[in-house]
Amino acid sequence: MDRKKLLFLIGTAMAAFLDFSVGALLATIVGSVMGEPVNIWHLIAGGILALLPDITQITMSCFKKKQIFISDHHETFDHWPILMITIWTVLLFIVGGRYWGVLTFLCMFFHYNHDMEIGNNGGIAFFAPFKWEFFTWFKGFYDPETSPIYRPENILGTWVWENWLKPSTLSLIEISLGSAALAIATSMVVNYRVSILLFAFCWIGTILVWREARS
Ligand SMILES: [Zn+2]
Repeated sequence: MDRKKLLFLIGTAMAAFLDFSVGALLATIVGSVMGEPVNIWHLIAGGILALLPDITQITMSCFKKKQIFISDHHETFDHWPILMITIWTVLLFIVGGRYWGVLTFLCMFFHYNHDMEIGNNGGIAFFAPFKWEFFTWFKGFYDPETSPIYRPENILGTWVWENWLKPSTLSLIEISLGSAALAIATSMVVNYRVSILLFAFCWIGTILVWREARS
């Protein structure tokens, strides 16, 4: 794999980092609220649940003839929140019980809220397929084409390079929140030494990636 493609993949992973770490934190919070013993595997499972909508998309893009990641404007079936949250929550509730049902609901609800327009980030038809207008809690329904995800300068490749592979408002906020969430989750489940190490690892890794992308 060439250097540019590898950096792009790392940048995409950085964009997914906040979902994963909030999912891990939710796994510990739901565990302590519901009196369910939680271990490191619950954290990983929470992270995966919070990434589920994008995992469907990445898997599908692997089966496409040309293996390129395209910006699909969050309008394919995996980004129809009401439908997907209902299906997965019911499924995980039946298979795993109350803890997994609640966790799935919260993780996926977070993911779709995170996909809403925040700064230069995203936009989603939250009530699709019933309503195709994009939605955020602070401005209600609006025309998708006015959202950042439709702007030509924000096609996925450029968006990753401009927002994730160098320090930007978006990357600084999300890496800060994500590394803090992961540190809190691991301090509750493993111990504080591991959480400090993980926190340091997140930032050292980020800084190394930024340095490499700049050269
Ligand atoms: Zn998404």
